[in-house]
Amino acid sequence: MSEPLLFEISSEGRKGYSLPPMDVPEKPLSDLLPETAVRSKIAELPELSEMEVIRHFTHLSTLNHHVDKGFYPLGSCTMKYNPKINDQLAELPGFSGVHPFQEVCDIEGALQLMGDLACYLAEISGMDEVTLQPAAGAHGEMSGIKIMRAYHEKNGNPRKKIILPDSAHGTNPASAAISGYEAVQIKSTDAGLVDLEDLKAHLDEEVAGFMLTNPNTLGLFEPQVCEIAKLIHSVDALLYMDGANLNALLGLTRPGDMGFDIVHINLHKTFSTPHGGGGPGSGPVGVTSRLAPFLPMPVINCGKSSYSLDWNRPDSIGKIHSFYGNFGVMVRAYVYIRMLGAKGLLRVSEDAILNANYMMRKLEKYFLLPHTQHHMHEFVLSGDWQKEKGVKTLDIAKRLLDYGVHAPTVYFPLIVHEALMIEPTETESKETLDEFIEIMIHIAEEVESNPEIVQNAPQTTPVRRLDEAAAARSLDVQYRES
Ligand SMILES: *Cc1c(COP(=O)(O)O)cnc(C)c1O
Repeated sequence: MSEPLLFEISSEGRKGYSLPPMDVPEKPLSDLLPETAVRSKIAELPELSEMEVIRHFTHLSTLNHHVDKGFYPLGSCTMKYNPKINDQLAELPGFSGVHPFQEVCDIEGALQLMGDLACYLAEISGMDEVTLQPAAGAHGEMSGIKIMRAYHEKNGNPRKKIILPDSAHGTNPASAAISGYEAVQIKSTDAGLVDLEDLKAHLDEEVAGFMLTNPNTLGLFEPQVCEIAKLIHSVDALLYMDGANLNALLGLTRPGDMGFDIVHINLHKTFSTPHGGGGPGSGPVGVTSRLAPFLPMPVINCGKSSYSLDWNRPDSIGKIHSFYGNFGVMVRAYVYIRMLGAKGLLRVSEDAILNANYMMRKLEKYFLLPHTQHHMHEFVLSGDWQKEKGVKTLDIAKRLLDYGVHAPTVYFPLIVHEALMIEPTETESKETLDEFIEIMIHIAEEVESNPEIVQNAPQTTPVRRLDEAAAARSLDVQYRES
């Protein structure tokens, strides 16, 4: 018996239809492929019914913690509730079915959505032009720094250094270094803000720019930002805003109005897309008009009656993402912005700030609060009081899992000992906030009365404390034990 062919379809097709002839090889596979490429036995693929698959994944989803299941106050990440309508609209066939190779005249609807989204983001951030290409905040940083470099080189004045505060997110110095700059760290004051004297001491004609997060990673607004902008511009350097914390500023103030030249926006944080675990993101970058010629290509032209792509940007830093970027995330952000409108976006930030400050004032008696002033959308506690009893911040984070909430960000920012960085976001109810406050107070009491239970947490999760270093070093992910 000869070996089976790849397909068995008659080129005549069914009666009444004529199927186009298929290019089906007439010879056995072993004649067409080298022997080493032909399987010797059937592949062991799992064969499961739809119901088994659904149950399997539903079960897995209940083992994991996620924002649809419980409170997720992960500081700096803005783990807000993501309205399901975002996903429903992103799934519309006209959006989810477009092919990246489709002709521009076929995808004007998608271009309109991207063009409009870029305009909204420009308005929200106070910038003149926005590119949607970068795939995440870190990618936006790298694109922004490339724009900085292109600007200084165009002026015949290449530079060597990028300054950043010691409270910066790790991606900031990494983006500076990967773009070929020396990352120079300056001190924060005891109040957690940029130390202007230290900034001045490091400022010279070698400096390409200053990367600042505002509000910073302590959740504090930099009140001297206009003064900082003047200083930076006095040596013709550029002021870059890490806009990961934009959730605190919507409708209240704008990076452009504060004197920033470049800003990246994390759509998957401020403008709601499920994220985490390296999921898809989008990190649009906005710039002032003098930097617009350097934006990545192509730029979307919003004409009166049609949309097109502008490739005529001779000073552009080039393309930094295949095709258009992460389109599905853009649809979600567009829906979110259109649904809330200007007033709704303002309310997002007002409520995010209110929730964070409410929680902070309730917890400051039980945990050390190193920076006591009014905060923006997040705040950072220190576990130093608990450490005196032999309980680390990591233990507190693990104990929180026993009570069904995700831990805050821990050990970041680096300038706070035993940091616990808490961002409740605007989408949580007062009941949820009160419940978390109670759990935290309860853990603080446990540290006094029964520290072992905290040190040995978690007790109730599907897996106990993992050796994360070992898991990362010898990753072993497989379908079935061999
Ligand atoms: C999340 C974050 C980043 C990096 O953004 P990604 O989208 O994760 O690449 C940079 N800076 C701050 C302050 C952040 O919180």
